[in-house]
Amino acid sequence: MLKRLEVVGFKSFAKKTVLDFLSSTTAIVGPNGSGKSNVAEAFRFALGEQSMKSMRGKRAEDLIFNGSHSVPRANRAAVAIVFDNRPKGAHRPFKIDFDEVVIERAVLRDGTSEYSINGSKVRLRDIEELLAGANIGETGHHIISQGEADRILLASPRDRRAMLEDALGLKIYEFKKQEAEKKLGKTEENIGQINSLRRELAPHLRFLESQVKKLERADSLRTELVGLAQTYFAIEDAYLAHEKEKVAGEKRDAAERLAQATAELSAIEERATTDAEGVKHLDLVRRTEREVERVGGERGTLARSLGRVEGALAAAKERSARVAREPYAKVPREDLSALAREIEKQAEEATTPEAISAALSAIRKAVTAFVGRFIAPADDLLADEERAAYALENERTELLAKDARFSEELERTKSALARSREAMTAHDETGRELRRRILDLAQAKAHEEGSVAKSGAREYELNLLSESLEREKGEVLALGGIATVSYAPLAQLPAEDRQTQDARKRTLERTKIRLEEAGGTGEDIRQEHKEVSERETFLATELEDLAKSAAGLRALISDLDTELGKHFSEGLAKVNASFSEYFALMFGGGSARLALEEAEEPEEGSLAYAEEETDEAPKEKERLGIEIAVNLPKKKVRSLMQLSGGERALTSIALIFAMSQVNPPPFLILDETDAALDEANSRRYGDMIENLAKKSQLIVITHNRESMSRANTLYGVTMGGDGVSKLLSVKFEEAVSVAK
Ligand code: ATP
Repeated sequence: MLKRLEVVGFKSFAKKTVLDFLSSTTAIVGPNGSGKSNVAEAFRFALGEQSMKSMRGKRAEDLIFNGSHSVPRANRAAVAIVFDNRPKGAHRPFKIDFDEVVIERAVLRDGTSEYSINGSKVRLRDIEELLAGANIGETGHHIISQGEADRILLASPRDRRAMLEDALGLKIYEFKKQEAEKKLGKTEENIGQINSLRRELAPHLRFLESQVKKLERADSLRTELVGLAQTYFAIEDAYLAHEKEKVAGEKRDAAERLAQATAELSAIEERATTDAEGVKHLDLVRRTEREVERVGGERGTLARSLGRVEGALAAAKERSARVAREPYAKVPREDLSALAREIEKQAEEATTPEAISAALSAIRKAVTAFVGRFIAPADDLLADEERAAYALENERTELLAKDARFSEELERTKSALARSREAMTAHDETGRELRRRILDLAQAKAHEEGSVAKSGAREYELNLLSESLEREKGEVLALGGIATVSYAPLAQLPAEDRQTQDARKRTLERTKIRLEEAGGTGEDIRQEHKEVSERETFLATELEDLAKSAAGLRALISDLDTELGKHFSEGLAKVNASFSEYFALMFGGGSARLALEEAEEPEEGSLAYAEEETDEAPKEKERLGIEIAVNLPKKKVRSLMQLSGGERALTSIALIFAMSQVNPPPFLILDETDAALDEANSRRYGDMIENLAKKSQLIVITHNRESMSRANTLYGVTMGGDGVSKLLSVKFEEAVSVAK
């Protein structure tokens, strides 16, 4: 499967040198210092060796051809190994889909390395994985450098274990495990970070949760407030509207009544203070009374006149009678005194001008009559007397008619007086009624004025209540939002007493205070709480995922450990069987075996040591190193250090061959591993090589004739004066001579 090695600019191989490996065993021969070991190192280099020391250099530059007096130095060293990758059985040796695999590495003077697989640039890691998959390990157990045959014997038990694992092809598990552990480390780091984030978040989240709880309490209070406020305000609105309407009606009615009373009162009062009608009544009564008096007086006068006329008439009649009987006129004294009395009386009674004139004419007539009786003859006298009587008779008739008229008038005036008196009395009665009415009206007016004032005061009070209600609404709105004042007006005031509404108001006030204490709507707090808890949930989920993947990785690691352990134990047993066999073969007896070292008990006293161990102990136990126990025939040797150089080489070879036998590497390079062997052992070594070559391709760098004789192909390496290694195919005889 190893097809070819191409070297250019690497160490002493200044020019491009190609080594074809067409047979199972190739020997490389040549004089000391010609550059044979450089071939083995070229393999190491191309396979990704990082240790300069194992390539006998200090810096990368040491790997690049350094030039000689005739050949200039190279700036780049490159080595390519060409593998045949055609499927063997069901699988290709390398897990890539090419019939040929070329692994190449180049190094520049600045120390940078470039890797490629089939011409594509890759990372070292890719090379390592590809090789591990083909059982070409990085510990280089398949490249045994010159003088390093006993490296495995000198290595520490743990390094030895690594070499053994590598040889057993378990490196791939190791890789997987490392990868898993790296991932686990990252995962645990992430877990730690997330945990610390959550720890940081926790107090804030707790705080926000308590705040949100408070806000939720405030929410329910607000809902409560909305309900209360709507009911209270709706009822209060209805109440105030109802009251206002009521008081407005009352006021209107009272004002109406007041206006009525006032109007009526002023009308009545006007009538009462200027009682013209009363005066008229009184005046009429007085006038009528006077009329009655006047008519009465005149009638009296008339009556007296009538009496006098009737007296005079009677006297005239008597005198005419006497004149007729007696021719002389004798004047009795009595007549004279009667006449005197009559005149006196007439004079006395004539008070009014009419009476005076009447009296005067009466007196004149009386006197004429009296005198006539004595002056005129008897006949004349008689005729005179008769004329006088006639005149008196006429006068009397006249007076009687007059009296009749007076009587009639008197009756009329008297009845008029009675009427007017009646009217006056009636009027006086009406006045009393009016005064009573005025009093009533004044009382009513005062009452209605009171009512109007009361209604006004009530209106004022209701307006104040309205204002304070509006203020209240404003406050509640600010506290509980628009919903508190968004309600339908009530069609009518509920049938309940005011105390119910008062109680409602008190509850509303209490709720307001509680809500105020509970704080605002806290939108920002809610938002923050939402964000923080989402973050927390996210982190928790993340943590869960990480924990899951950590658990998965741990399980994987543990599975890998188990598998590794299993394969290792099996491998170890097989290697031991071969090792012992080869050992006995090499030494003509005796035995050797590999054993897991005893787990060391941590020493007491050193704290630092103890601490280090507690962490490492379980891992250490799983990865116990490998001890080598040898039992030489006829010798009592305990320690490997007690073996001779040759014995160490034999033991080492036995072990290397045993390992290679159990899990054959694709190729094995043995650089003068046979150097310390005597002739007999060289033969045994040669036998083993032949045996080994059945399973692995062998490249043997040797000066040993026996070893050369077992090879199918022989290359000679020479170095001329130009310091450049040259390669040539040689025959066995040539090789023997070249090697010398
Ligand atoms: P021996 O048989 O004694 O073991 P060898 O054939 O194995 O010898 P090497 O050790 O492979 O020889 O070759 C060493 C040679 O390579 C030396 O001559 C050394 O000068 C040469 N050499 C090593 N590194 C460089 C370099 N960077 N440039 C040029 N020549 C180098």
